[in-house]
Amino acid sequence: MITGKNYIGQQISAQGNKTFKTFNPLLNAENPWKLTEATAEEVEEACNLATEAYKTYSRTSGVQKAKFLRAIAEEIEALGDMLLEVYQSESGLPNGRARGERKRTLGQLRDFADYVEAGDWVDASIDTAQPERHPIPKVDLRKMNIALGPVVVFGASNFPLAFSTAGGDTAAALAAGCPVIVKSHPMHAATGEMVASAVIKAAQQTSMPNGVFSNLNSSGIEVGQQLVLHPNIKAVGFTGSIKGGRALYDLAAQRKEPIPVFAEMGSINPIVLLPNALHNRAENIAKTYANSITLGTGQFCTNPGLILGVKSDGLTRFINTLAQEIIKVEPTCMLHPNIAGAYEAKKANALEQQGVKVLATYPEEVKPNHARQVVTTVEGETFLNNTTLHHEVFGPFSIVVQCEDETQLETVISKLEGQLTGTIISDENEINTKYNIVAALQNRVGRIIFNGVPTGVEVCPSMQHGGPYPATTDSRFTAVGVNSIKRFVRPFSFQSWPNELLPDELKNENPLGILRTVNGKTTNEPMNQ
Ligand code: NAP
Repeated sequence: MITGKNYIGQQISAQGNKTFKTFNPLLNAENPWKLTEATAEEVEEACNLATEAYKTYSRTSGVQKAKFLRAIAEEIEALGDMLLEVYQSESGLPNGRARGERKRTLGQLRDFADYVEAGDWVDASIDTAQPERHPIPKVDLRKMNIALGPVVVFGASNFPLAFSTAGGDTAAALAAGCPVIVKSHPMHAATGEMVASAVIKAAQQTSMPNGVFSNLNSSGIEVGQQLVLHPNIKAVGFTGSIKGGRALYDLAAQRKEPIPVFAEMGSINPIVLLPNALHNRAENIAKTYANSITLGTGQFCTNPGLILGVKSDGLTRFINTLAQEIIKVEPTCMLHPNIAGAYEAKKANALEQQGVKVLATYPEEVKPNHARQVVTTVEGETFLNNTTLHHEVFGPFSIVVQCEDETQLETVISKLEGQLTGTIISDENEINTKYNIVAALQNRVGRIIFNGVPTGVEVCPSMQHGGPYPATTDSRFTAVGVNSIKRFVRPFSFQSWPNELLPDELKNENPLGILRTVNGKTTNEPMNQ
């Protein structure tokens, strides 16, 4: 059942009188549920409960946290098809996508369960004492990762499940031992409430402390601001616009005690088309990219918004085929009228820029909230001189930049803002002669795809989903895969502690059997007493 209320820990609460509704973009009509915005008092209560919960939850064993995370996955599954129906009515996304995203969400929770149960993730490091060392005796030092404290997670508009209430950021923070307060995304707040109810049930079943999880509704920025400014909050996870992410990052930096904001924001994901590949298979590459640009109505952070090549017969054939193919794709629905409106406005702004030529735009009228895809082209020099063209147009939009030569191509790459991904389309061995281009691209992105498309983010430990600013606020971390736990921990050293008082991870006998670095050697053996 959808109550429209907030979860302040286990308590369902609706003290305020400000309400809002979500929107079905396919029907172009409001959804029936009335959501009540959290009040300042409810935000305060959630933060205080989270701090209380942190005292015990941060010390909860990996085995217990794993039970909690697996129970969340089971409870989300138990929500059945109703969750998918609500998801679809709040996003306009098709049933297949809803199923896929739920599967991914459950997989992420279970991956983290396995990861913290195994326990090696704490990076335990032990350097034993050398009392005989001259001239100064060496002390016993033992280090491991510990939970930062209560974390605020902002749900993403474009992933109502996998990057929202119990999505990657929440799973990572809970796995680390941090209580989580979700600022539910206003576009899919009913989906968020259903998932929140599953998390709360799982917390109760596995005896987690009250306040380990809260879910707050809001349709304006005040609740999020109050959360980020609250002294009890120790980190923030965010996925959304550069404007929103940067505002929260600046807010957190201005606090008396600044805290980290791990924001995943805009990216245009440059594609570099090398000459031999274009010469040999321009048409096939164009067909592949017509699909990638329009996938999910272009609403992926890895959408290919920028395609770079050196002028040639191959590039011309690529451009012509891309123009023909892209208009064959049937336009689809965007997530919300606001997202559709932002797409139209940003697209119009890009098209107004001097030197931008439209290659193709979907020619027919479309239903409300559906996006007409557009591909455009500019000269390399024009692109270099106009940074408006370097910014994300969130939706099915892409610019092909026609460079004069490889030197200009390298300059264009080196002038780009930070990106999540870059892609190189190359013929066999061609890349071997393009070291400068690869190096320039590596300098600007978090991941390079060789002969593929950037859309489709595998969830696994070797995935790097992050990149130099503004793709993310901290390129040292990933937002996808179990390593994303590192955002929500800090290293902590115990000096000269008695063995029995140390956490199990650092005890001589290694009762958890985890991999540790002991006096410079990696081992899962107990230490000689
Ligand atoms: P958004 O405007 O960045 O909002 C995301 C969340 O942050 C919302 O919950 C919003 O709260 C909150 N927020 C935004 N600005 C804030 C501020 N100054 N202070 C406190 N909270 C703030 O993103 P969105 O609504 O999800 O989508 C809008 C645009 O973001 C899209 O059109 C697209 O350009 C971009 N986007 C990019 C990606 C990507 O992966 N690259 C993904 C999603 C969205 P309220 O809504 O309650 O105000």
